[in-house]
Amino acid sequence: MSKEILQQLQPAARRAAADVENARRRPPGQVVADHRAAAAHRTLVQAIGTPVVAQRRLNFESSTRYLDYESGILPASFYNATYTATLHGAKGLDEEVAVKQVESVTVGLGAKEGSATASYVPDAQEIHVRASNRERYAEDPSALQQTLSGELGAFAHETEHALDHLRGVVDYTGGSMEANENKIRTEWRAWAVEAAVATRNRDKGFLITPSQTLLIAGYASKDAFKSGYPWTRTKKYLIAYLDFNEMREMREFMERHDAWIDEALEYYRINLMYD
Ligand SMILES: [Zn+2]
Repeated sequence: MSKEILQQLQPAARRAAADVENARRRPPGQVVADHRAAAAHRTLVQAIGTPVVAQRRLNFESSTRYLDYESGILPASFYNATYTATLHGAKGLDEEVAVKQVESVTVGLGAKEGSATASYVPDAQEIHVRASNRERYAEDPSALQQTLSGELGAFAHETEHALDHLRGVVDYTGGSMEANENKIRTEWRAWAVEAAVATRNRDKGFLITPSQTLLIAGYASKDAFKSGYPWTRTKKYLIAYLDFNEMREMREFMERHDAWIDEALEYYRINLMYD
């Protein structure tokens, strides 16, 4: 890059750097603002030609680097705007989150554990992901789209948990009833992000996973949320995290946290607003 071009770019780069810095200090939940910061960050990267040092709070190891939209490992079309903004938020955290590949991922408590594609471990501030299946489906474009929609959707979901935890939206490590109830709140927010990632993929004509199709339908309205897939999935979490056994307890939980449902549905809409 010539010196003249560099000088012309400098004011834009400075503005972009200031935007990125402001974004790091922003209070939780400002997804639209975070997206603007993501766009500003891209401008900055283009202007100065190298990634900025401040953007390393999400630490990928080589096997998980394909999840980083800045790695260039996957075609850019796989990293949609919801995905990019969510990861960008985590890259701007004050604390570091390590993204590690593990043999198997477990969620839940003790005997009620289940397996998953990925999980956030709040005590360690790590996101664990299972080995990618993308190589297995490399020859089949539709299967590859579906596989990556599943893997990237799951990763955005876990990144949202990290954001909620480290920005203090939820108390993720305490064992109190309140802390355990908050785990459901961050779950609903993380599903909103996952559903928005999947919606963008679907609207692009990508094949998405069956559970993503169900999740999108569940975020279409409050009634759908309270009777469809989110409700089915919530019941499992209420059993695993809160040790609920009776349907009455579960229904009461939904009534008591009606505002969290509104929040999650709104979060889904916000995550679809920007481009
Ligand atoms: Zn989750």
